Amino acid sequence: MRIRVIGAGAAGLTAAFELVRRARETGRDLALEVVEKAEKAGLGCSFYAGGMIAPWCEAESTEPIVARLGAEALDFWTRIVPVAEPRGSLVVAQKRDRSELVQFSRRTSHFEVLDRAGLAALEPDLGDNFDQALYFAEEAHLAPRAALAELVRLRSAEPNVVFRYGVDAATLADNCDWTLDCRGFAAKPDLSGLRGVKGEMMILRSADVKLSRPVRMLHPRHPVYIVPRPDGTFMVGATMIENEERARVTAQSLVELVNSAFAVHPAFAEAEVVETGSDVRPSFSDNLPRIKREGRRLYLNGLYRHGFLLSPALASRAARIVFDDAIFPEVMDEDRGQRRAS
Ligand SMILES: Cc1cc2nc3c(=O)[nH]c(=O)nc-3n(C[C@H](O)[C@H](O)[C@H](O)COP(=O)(O)OP(=O)(O)OC[C@H]3O[C@@H](n4cnc5c(N)ncnc54)[C@H](O)[C@@H]3O)c2cc1C
Repeated sequence: MRIRVIGAGAAGLTAAFELVRRARETGRDLALEVVEKAEKAGLGCSFYAGGMIAPWCEAESTEPIVARLGAEALDFWTRIVPVAEPRGSLVVAQKRDRSELVQFSRRTSHFEVLDRAGLAALEPDLGDNFDQALYFAEEAHLAPRAALAELVRLRSAEPNVVFRYGVDAATLADNCDWTLDCRGFAAKPDLSGLRGVKGEMMILRSADVKLSRPVRMLHPRHPVYIVPRPDGTFMVGATMIENEERARVTAQSLVELVNSAFAVHPAFAEAEVVETGSDVRPSFSDNLPRIKREGRRLYLNGLYRHGFLLSPALASRAARIVFDDAIFPEVMDEDRGQRRAS
């Protein structure tokens, strides 16, 4: 079976990984090529992700399917491709925003409430600033760029897998048995309803801040999360803006991110700004992911702000559509429409 994956972001690389796995499990021959327009993998929207594998926290603002599919990512990123740190995640709010924490706890599960001492035991740096927190012990986090590099490394080692960089798939003949289109936002002209939701982030370095797990700080207007990276830096993110401007970080957004980071830990005021960046999250109107099938072409898209959280579930389903002729009404476009109609 000749298969082409277009796009080497979170969607394309997890799909490539799962295609090889399923081919092996079913004893099928596979010749796989991953075609990427950029000079290397992972430079699209996936480059800017925070990397929180937080299905239970995300349940606060999404439909239950996100937590259900996202739970699969915990197994994928901690056991199958073990690049994630299974250290849980924390949710805090300043005293004046205590009601936000109460609301968050009502809409989520799989957490325990920590008092100041409990929080300080986990994150000594936060004990002075917050007297309560929600601790989601089963969640994890990863460094997105390293995670994607690991997928490339694993699949580059396979004799039947070729990575082609600097190639626009539109220039290639359609001569494969299957094509998995994982172009993210670039697929907008072919996917009705796909839109971009702008996100801006920054990376800070501070020797005075010590955090071992992601921290979300709730706020009525400027919620923020901080994800520690293995190199001692911190990803601070992310804005959510309904426009499709890909690469411009505004002064206002930077001020908001810095102020929020400062509210989590005052030492961020002295931190070095290592990087700022922005892209648009490929999203459908309901912010849920889709596999759209057109003959022997599958579009894996709509990962919204859940690229690393949902791509493993989408990828494993895509591999089963290809090799087992399976159908998955919960994520497949046509069936979703039928279900809604009924
Ligand atoms: C600031 C920010 C923070 C985020 N935080 C998180 C987070 O904490 N957790 C999480 O799970 N998600 C997060 N996300 C969302 C996540 O980044 C996206 O959902 C995810 O990256 C989408 O992945 P993708 O593979 O669909 O798209 P992309 O990563 O954009 O990959 C698409 C690839 O296709 C390639 N391509 C396009 N056209 C062609 C062509 N014609 N030929 C060949 N190749 C082509 C592109 O070059 C690109 O490499 C965040 C996003 C942003 C912007």
